Amino acid sequence: MLIQNESRVKEYLPITGLADFNKLSAKLIFGADSPAIQENRVATVQCLSGTGSLRVGGEFLARHYHERTIYIPQPTWGNHPKVFTLAGLTARSYRYYDPATRGLDFQGLLEDISSAPSGAIVLLHACAHNPTGVDPTLEQWEQIRQLMRSKALLPFFDSAYQGFASGSLDKDAQSVRMFVADGGELLMAQSYAKNMGLYGERVGALSIVCGSADIAVKVESQLKLVIRPMYSNPPLHGASIVATILKDSAMFDEWTLELKAMADRIISMREQLFNALKIRGPSVSKLWMFNLLVHFLLIPLCQSVDHLSYHAETPGDWSHIIKQIGMFTFTGLNSDQVAFMRQEYHIYMTSDGRISMAGLSSRTVPHLADAIHAAVT
Ligand code: PLP
Repeated sequence: MLIQNESRVKEYLPITGLADFNKLSAKLIFGADSPAIQENRVATVQCLSGTGSLRVGGEFLARHYHERTIYIPQPTWGNHPKVFTLAGLTARSYRYYDPATRGLDFQGLLEDISSAPSGAIVLLHACAHNPTGVDPTLEQWEQIRQLMRSKALLPFFDSAYQGFASGSLDKDAQSVRMFVADGGELLMAQSYAKNMGLYGERVGALSIVCGSADIAVKVESQLKLVIRPMYSNPPLHGASIVATILKDSAMFDEWTLELKAMADRIISMREQLFNALKIRGPSVSKLWMFNLLVHFLLIPLCQSVDHLSYHAETPGDWSHIIKQIGMFTFTGLNSDQVAFMRQEYHIYMTSDGRISMAGLSSRTVPHLADAIHAAVT
């Protein structure tokens, strides 16, 4: 009711957006007790979802920052290079994903970041890296932080999935909060598309953590000069929904419960797909009968079943499906296998083998497992 009433207001917002929304967004990502917020060192502006926040941040840096090179992970969300290049920055990549382990190429990442020129900007996915689903551990984040600060590299965090990765808003913000805690500067682009399901409302925020309250005031003023000729001011409706939920403790609690349920469902889809691949055989019905035979006839007759390899698993190591984090799984399937699955099984995914776990259900997992099995055998 409250949200409906508020949505009737159709006045312009200020260039920087809804003040409450900005304050609450900074608190959500940096934590209510963040020293940067308490010291008024954060300039936050409401932007057009995550993409708009990245673009405004990119243009601000291109105008005012001394180093114009931004290092982005390889691979990354397909829009990153275009957003930053069109904003006036030069995009370079740093190694991130190791296809051999289907995990983080941590050594490669450290080497590439070490050789970036001092002061360069480094784009970091706050959690649930898109498209790989591979995140650094907290220990690795700490090493990344130390290296970046020692080289005066400027972190630009992209947070499109807060709460969606682990189910906890605070846990998913840990990487960012480590960088804020050291007192250094950083940029943060937030999106509410996924975690509030507000895709089409285009609700997001750009926060710049500055060295002092004075600088934050100047930064905000310069951000206005970026935004004004770009789209004048942001839309009201989505931001008022977010602000309403964030400031009402009952609504906030309900939202966090729903987020947790969504994250848990995704984690359960990962487990179901992994288990389904473990039992896939050339003929599922034959395997089923074979398993029955083993369980009811052979096992009672044998002292040990350790030597009995009766599971016809899908070849390969699929543990990355349960290790990866967030909405996406980088399956490791190549473009020929992806094409085969499209042709033979009508399963559609990006040609780099990325699937959205959110699009799976217990009903569709067996079909996907059959298709992957057929594609790799
Ligand atoms: N950043 C990443 C890593 C994303 O995956 C996305 C969306 O897929 C975005 C930013 C931007 O999303 P939006 O502009 O819809 O908030």
